[in-house]
Amino acid sequence: MLMSGEQYIESMKKYDPRIFLGGKQVKLLENPTTMTVVKANATVYDLALKPEYEAVMTVQSPFTGEKVSRNLHIAMSNADLEKRAEMALLTSQVLGTCNYRCVGADILNALAGITWEMDRDLGTGYHKRFIEHLKYLQQNDLACSGAVTDPKGDRSKRPAQQEDPDVYVHVKEKRADGIVVRGAKVSQSGAIGAHETIVIPTMGMKAGEEDFAVAFAVPNGAEGITYICQYTPFTAERELNDPRYLGNPQYGQRETCIMVFDDVFVPWERVFMCGETRYCGKLIARFAKTHRMNCGGACKVGFADIIIGATQLMAEYSGVQKAPHIVDKITDMIRISETARACSIAAALKGREEPEGSGFYQPDDVFGNAAKLTVAEGFWDIMKWAGDIGGGMAVTMPSEKELENPETGDYVRKFMKASAPAELRLRMAKVIQNWCAGLHGAGTWHGAGSPMAQKMALYNLANLEEKKALAKKIAGLPE
Ligand SMILES: Cc1cc2nc3c(=O)[nH]c(=O)nc-3n(C[C@H](O)[C@H](O)[C@H](O)COP(=O)(O)OP(=O)(O)OC[C@H]3O[C@@H](n4cnc5c(N)ncnc54)[C@H](O)[C@@H]3O)c2cc1C
Repeated sequence: MLMSGEQYIESMKKYDPRIFLGGKQVKLLENPTTMTVVKANATVYDLALKPEYEAVMTVQSPFTGEKVSRNLHIAMSNADLEKRAEMALLTSQVLGTCNYRCVGADILNALAGITWEMDRDLGTGYHKRFIEHLKYLQQNDLACSGAVTDPKGDRSKRPAQQEDPDVYVHVKEKRADGIVVRGAKVSQSGAIGAHETIVIPTMGMKAGEEDFAVAFAVPNGAEGITYICQYTPFTAERELNDPRYLGNPQYGQRETCIMVFDDVFVPWERVFMCGETRYCGKLIARFAKTHRMNCGGACKVGFADIIIGATQLMAEYSGVQKAPHIVDKITDMIRISETARACSIAAALKGREEPEGSGFYQPDDVFGNAAKLTVAEGFWDIMKWAGDIGGGMAVTMPSEKELENPETGDYVRKFMKASAPAELRLRMAKVIQNWCAGLHGAGTWHGAGSPMAQKMALYNLANLEEKKALAKKIAGLPE
């Protein structure tokens, strides 16, 4: 049964996660910043119930036979992959922040294939277990966040060589009824507001690193879990200000946290990998493929649509919209964003069944990496032009509260007016400030993996031998 936004909020009352923000313990459903995550999730639940978005946001599950959220669906065709990318685009356009279920959705897809493969090769029972858990998630329409990124300590060392092994999530103890895990995951988007978090290793593991080769699901606020939230100038601003005057009043910034696992017990029925190091690399590679298409490509296109809209409006509000250089810059923003969108759709349409015989589909790797890289580089340019066209006021403007101040209101109205009233210019400049002078540059760069990882993947995937042969043929050189 699909939940409404209101039912989702009601369902979160059953959980009592241990959350810290700005040095204080806070309640998920009471704090203005943690509530931005809850509101974003609630809106995604409501989108799934709107007839106009039904085809994008929902799908008939082959496992339960019922209509389920696409956030919990395993892609079984190219059309499924395309719809998944469309969902990322749509939710970004609507929220102007993270669809906090995106990483979870892509992990579920990677786990479906890898558990199938492990059962086939090793005779394990992971896939059956995974599908049972998936059915539980689908039947209850639960929100899942996805935990990949370990703190990693000294990046030049392997997990087992670290001074403190806890910088990688690992199995501390195996019991008859389950495992005990220890460690942490960082930069966890929306984990505080998810019913469940699905955890996988951050990278490929080698023989001798079996304890780190672990994948599992935990319910929100399970014993031993602490969430330590990011705290930014935007958090402080939300605490101090009337939310109406913030750049994204409802949904705010992409809220993440450090999720600490301090000896958390996970029953076996929630464990989907435990020690199979040989399968870790493939698991993370499949996750990356899907996530680069969705989070890397499509999601940021939705953000770009908002930035382009705000920039065009700012141009109109200041009366410069017809100047050739403005038209040229807006066109450049559209070019970057549509190229990323095209790569993302190409990744879906050129995707294929993986592993063969499983029925599960993965996007094309080359196009997925190209989508993420185009966006990582291009987003800075998009923000550059938004900052250019928005003018200095995007970072120098006074608070909109001045408009209500009898001592300054008339001055602000008089001097901030251009071809549109001060109220409109201030409001839209704040939207631009939210993107250009905010967290989104570095966020887009690192989200779905730092670009060096995609560059290495793209270089390795490109068939350079074939390209060399083509060049030799044209030059009249022997093969
Ligand atoms: C807004 C946002 C939301 C996110 N949401 C999630 C989420 O929901 N779930 C999740 O699991 N993760 C999430 N992430 C984490 C994201 O996947 C990581 O930020 C990304 O993989 C980079 O890892 P890192 O932050 O530890 O960077 P670092 O590893 O510290 O990278 C910093 C630099 O070091 C380089 N580097 C790192 N290791 C090596 C090495 N061994 N050799 C050479 N160079 C190296 C990198 O290329 C980069 O240039 C999110 C990140 C952001 C910014």
